Amino acid sequence: MRALVVGAGIVGLTTARMLARRGYSVTVVEAHEGPGMETSYANAGQRSYGHVSPWAAPDLIGVGLKGLVRRQGPLKMHMPPAPRTIGFLFQTLRYAWESGRYDASNRAMLQLGQVSRNAFHAIDRELPEGFDGHHEGLLEISRDPVEYAGLQTKARALAEQQIEHEWLDADSVNRQEPALAATGDLQPSLLINGDGTGDCHRLSQLLMAQCRKAGVRFFFGTSVTQWEHNGNALEGAHVSDGNRSWLEAADATVVCAGCASRDLVRPLGLKLPVYPVKGYSLTAPLDNPDKAPRSTVVDLDNKVAITRLGDRMRITGFAELAGFNRRIPESRLQVLQEAINERFPGAADFNHAEPWTGFRPMLPDGPPALGAGPLQNLWLNTGHGTFGWTLSAGSAELLGMMMHSEPTPIDVSAFDPCRFGGSRR
Ligand SMILES: Cc1cc2nc3c(=O)[nH]c(=O)nc-3n(C[C@H](O)[C@H](O)[C@H](O)COP(=O)(O)OP(=O)(O)OC[C@H]3O[C@@H](n4cnc5c(N)ncnc54)[C@H](O)[C@@H]3O)c2cc1C
Repeated sequence: MRALVVGAGIVGLTTARMLARRGYSVTVVEAHEGPGMETSYANAGQRSYGHVSPWAAPDLIGVGLKGLVRRQGPLKMHMPPAPRTIGFLFQTLRYAWESGRYDASNRAMLQLGQVSRNAFHAIDRELPEGFDGHHEGLLEISRDPVEYAGLQTKARALAEQQIEHEWLDADSVNRQEPALAATGDLQPSLLINGDGTGDCHRLSQLLMAQCRKAGVRFFFGTSVTQWEHNGNALEGAHVSDGNRSWLEAADATVVCAGCASRDLVRPLGLKLPVYPVKGYSLTAPLDNPDKAPRSTVVDLDNKVAITRLGDRMRITGFAELAGFNRRIPESRLQVLQEAINERFPGAADFNHAEPWTGFRPMLPDGPPALGAGPLQNLWLNTGHGTFGWTLSAGSAELLGMMMHSEPTPIDVSAFDPCRFGGSRR
């Protein structure tokens, strides 16, 4: 059986690995010149299986309004918003306010997170070196009573799913993160013990090497330009590397094209309203490892995530609705720097940090699109939004089960790729 994977971000690579293990003859086509070069390049590095939650949250309006008046994130919007941005926001609000929707999506994402956690433990055993991967817990901190109330709600959902977590008071927070500064007036902090970290881009490179050894063919600098189908079944894709074009015939095609998925699948009769939600990161080499985080911290006051990646640390923030605009304004980086100065002063030289911007492939409700598409032989594994690194290992495993009509360990209905429009033939 021939399988074609479109996209070599982290999701395409875990998918290619799964398919090779299941005995497919796998080809991966990727528009960039290497693996993990788009959104998988410099994300926050959190493998946050217990911290996943849907984008369409009922408090989105409040968060959005705060974001417009404060310098800090999380939510920012380019003004005046483009029609596509307005459409995405309306869809998001519809899902956010639909009774029961948030809780159902939250449950589904947490369950997928646990599948992913198990799948990642297996990957970590196979590839223990080279991507600064660890599972040392994720700490959420805030001094704001409203944020604390939100954490309490979150902890209830974790308890329901029997996901290990604990509350740390201001003193014991330093047991988890000894270098964390400005902890005096913190509310109790939530530690999600089983969560982890790792450099997504570096694991993408390792997975590519592992896949190549298993016989997977990679075509970089190569894009899908057109589909080949007979009206009922997908038969492959026309691809081009700029110099030559050819038909990649396949018995199964999996679209893992991140933010490009929306336009790519539209000609196949599938509506997949993926929106590119922009974020920023700064990565700096450590000056003083004793002053750096041990694992990863979500700072709810400053709206940033701060992660240790070996001898580097990374800070990320913002969820900006600005289309595909790759500009990195100095004002955004300043906010990140100020948060680092408050929480982990003196750990790294952020004057020489690598700035980056990327786009979360966000669906308006939140769960990814995972499963069968409208045509036979078309499969989707995309639209993971804020949590694609975390969910990549589990999504690939679940997709393999779906492709072989095996029972899945969790209910997958929340991930149906056709839930926004597209009827199966
Ligand atoms: C600031 C920021 C912080 C984040 N932090 C975290 C985090 O801590 N934890 C977490 O879990 N997630 C995080 N994320 C989200 C995570 O990075 C993404 O969900 C994930 O990288 C998506 O992976 P992907 O493989 O689906 O997409 P991508 O990595 O974007 O890969 C898709 C690939 O498809 C290729 N492609 C597109 N169209 C075509 C075509 N026609 N032909 C061939 N190739 C094509 C693209 O070139 C691209 O390489 C963060 C994102 C941002 C922006």
